[in-house]
Amino acid sequence: MALRVALGLPKWTPNIVLMKIAGQEVLSEKIKRLAAQFFIRQLANGTQSPIYDQNCRPSIKLIKKDEVLMANLSADLVTSTDHIISFPDTLFSRNNVCEIHLSDFSFQNKAHPVFLIKDLFEEAVSKEFYDYHIIATDASKSRSFTSIAGISNLQSFVYRIHPINSIFTAEALAICQALDELSVTDKNLLLLTDSYSVLQALKCLTIKSPKVIHRLAGKIFVRKNFNQKICLVWTPGHSLIQWNEKADLLAKTVTESHPFIEWIASEDIISHFQTISLQKTNHSFQNSKYQESIGDIPTMLTLTPWLKNRREDIIIARLLTRMIITPALLHRFGLHNNPRCQICNRDNNIEHIILFCSKYSNHRSILCAKLNFDLQLGPSLKAFFQNAVSDKRHLRILLQSLKSFDIY
Ligand SMILES: [Zn+2]
Repeated sequence: MALRVALGLPKWTPNIVLMKIAGQEVLSEKIKRLAAQFFIRQLANGTQSPIYDQNCRPSIKLIKKDEVLMANLSADLVTSTDHIISFPDTLFSRNNVCEIHLSDFSFQNKAHPVFLIKDLFEEAVSKEFYDYHIIATDASKSRSFTSIAGISNLQSFVYRIHPINSIFTAEALAICQALDELSVTDKNLLLLTDSYSVLQALKCLTIKSPKVIHRLAGKIFVRKNFNQKICLVWTPGHSLIQWNEKADLLAKTVTESHPFIEWIASEDIISHFQTISLQKTNHSFQNSKYQESIGDIPTMLTLTPWLKNRREDIIIARLLTRMIITPALLHRFGLHNNPRCQICNRDNNIEHIILFCSKYSNHRSILCAKLNFDLQLGPSLKAFFQNAVSDKRHLRILLQSLKSFDIY
């Protein structure tokens, strides 16, 4: 009901069509997803969550239904919920993390030509970091693998990680792993990464930051007991900086035979579930009788940036769902006595008005010329709307011409 009002669609709009154009999930799926999300968040909150007691044991007992839900969840993810990245036992504030350089050096400017970035980088390292142990990390995501890699002049590593993890999580995990595996004691550490967003998140650490960033802060804190100084420096990607190139190549060499690290970010699991749930809406639409008649309609969310006001939102939502008020539609619901067009004596529906009615033939040729839509080859309304909502310019043209078709 709320969706109908929000979209301005009449009450006889079929549910499946409504969910599809609203980009909404089927309610039963959504309830399940929200319950799962609640538990995943609690798991990720670790000892900070009220569902655990002081000894990190669960302080509540799940009811049977929720236990099944959690078991299914683990099975879906092919991992144990123990591997969800959680808060470290001690939380750190952003003040005691470490030095983070995002824009302090002249090479940290993507506007520079690549060769200049490379030279400026080498100069900065030889001036400021000549006595540092340098470590570079990178992450990679392909169809087959999500991987992390790290390299120093002594050692390197490559691991596969859970494919649900985003590139953001992967980049952060790569730095965590590098701190564990590639650090040397009693030497200052310079960590290079091309992930601006991870360093930015670390710099602005709050209780709401992703758990993997808290984990990274925790690792740095522990490392600081061994090393004098830890510096994290952003290096622009694809700029021929040797260290980056090496880490990048390494991450891409990953194969099935590389070891697998099971850590998985709760934030990524949650967005994965949202995607799956929306896919289910799309599937049920595609399998319904409506897909055949009205075609694959986009969600309003993707169109609203091109629309100016609520009136336009409503008109487009109604056109796409074929719920725009026409004599034929009104007649179907007993609200109009003549479903036929008085000029052509055909069903006076939206298809007739836009594609066939002789009353509008002049307006139609102008509109179709502007939209570059071919009327000669037995046009379908499905194809017409697909063309009209394909980009902003087309959509604006359609909206401007609706008045000439007596559509308001
Ligand atoms: Zn007509």
